[in-house]
Amino acid sequence: MVELRNPISVSEAIARIAAETRLLGSEQIPLGEAYGRILAQPLKALHDVPSFDRSPYDGFAIRAEDSAEASGMNRIAFKVVDHIGAGSVSSIRIGANEAVRIMTGAQLPEGADAVVMLEQTQEAGSSFTLRKPFRSGENISFRGEDMRLGEEILPAGSLIHPGTVALLATFGCNQAEVARLPVVGLLATGTELLETGAPLEPGKIRNSNGPMIAAQLKRMGVPCRMYAAAADRLEDLLETVRGALGECDCLITTGGVSVGDFDLLPAVYESLGAKVLFNKVAMRPGSVTTVAAAGKQFLFGLSGNPSACYTGFELFARPALLRMMGAQRIYPLHTRAVLGEDFAKPNPFMRFVRAVYDGQTVRPAGFNKSNAVSSIGRGNALLVLPGGTRGFKAGDSVDVLLPGMEEGSDLWML
Ligand code: AMP
Ligand code: MG
Repeated sequence: MVELRNPISVSEAIARIAAETRLLGSEQIPLGEAYGRILAQPLKALHDVPSFDRSPYDGFAIRAEDSAEASGMNRIAFKVVDHIGAGSVSSIRIGANEAVRIMTGAQLPEGADAVVMLEQTQEAGSSFTLRKPFRSGENISFRGEDMRLGEEILPAGSLIHPGTVALLATFGCNQAEVARLPVVGLLATGTELLETGAPLEPGKIRNSNGPMIAAQLKRMGVPCRMYAAAADRLEDLLETVRGALGECDCLITTGGVSVGDFDLLPAVYESLGAKVLFNKVAMRPGSVTTVAAAGKQFLFGLSGNPSACYTGFELFARPALLRMMGAQRIYPLHTRAVLGEDFAKPNPFMRFVRAVYDGQTVRPAGFNKSNAVSSIGRGNALLVLPGGTRGFKAGDSVDVLLPGMEEGSDLWML
């Protein structure tokens, strides 16, 4: 008899996974390796930035009070007493009607409280004239205007992207305290599977899910431990899964979670005594996606169907792995777009369609059955159509997920 499964919503599935995740802990790594990792501690300013008042322009540093009477009819003359570029500090304290020629980024000399841009002056030898008054503080990049000592700039859980690397470098951090990376095992199951290099044989297909998920993990900066694809034999599967759980924080399998005669993952979960969080999600493709917890470890049982597998990883595995690292923005970025063509097939379940999004319009990326590989290859987004009894028309406003982005959202919007 076929086992009866209760479908839950995608949101509920995500919530059940969230309730089960634990933090992995942290480690120190060199700044050069920090890109793509998750900050384990808040990033606080270790000093004021800038750390001195400086010139934002190429020009002359003056005392504003000396320019008070300046006008087109009454140009005021200044004597240039020093000349500094960025990185140099003038030892001169400027006096009445004196100026220091100063370049962008150089520290303001003592006594100066305004900067006149080169373009605002008429130069003659070692002096220049002005035709307008300057306020005290005009054209100065003030100490601490960007960041103040002790201020929290980024919370723990922020992705270290190139801008974050700049921040760490600004504060002289050669090391960063980041979340430990999860050890993720990857096991494709199915007697029909051949390794990538193998010639086709009757009835067999090449394992595309394994390399695909390895790339999805790589996209989020997580390496994987790839196990050799396993045939549908319970004893062997059980042994491989047991072994993997001994060395991984989480094991992603593909295939074998449905209710067919050779779908053996449910029996594996049972033998392990794993807690099945769900085994049916109200979504297409991938309704058989199963997630189980064995002690502290996750078992992600993704469908073998390539589209379902791709989507299952982005919807469930990626947020869970990010959450294990304490990340803030764990969900795919989300937007609305105009559906570019009719989508007639109604379905009671929420549908995720591999699609091409151009910033305005979204269209299915071609052949779109759950076993499609072509559309995964062509697409750059997932079009999301709510479950219901009607189809959709070109021009309808629809939801789009953008899983390819470097950083996602802290909200689950569907
Ligand atoms: P399953 O989830 O095991 O019922 O498999 C569903 C479909 O996906 C079947 O047509 C499988 O042959 C196919 N499939 C399973 N695993 C893979 C894989 N690793 N790569 C490509 N296709 C697969
Ligand atoms: Mg199978």
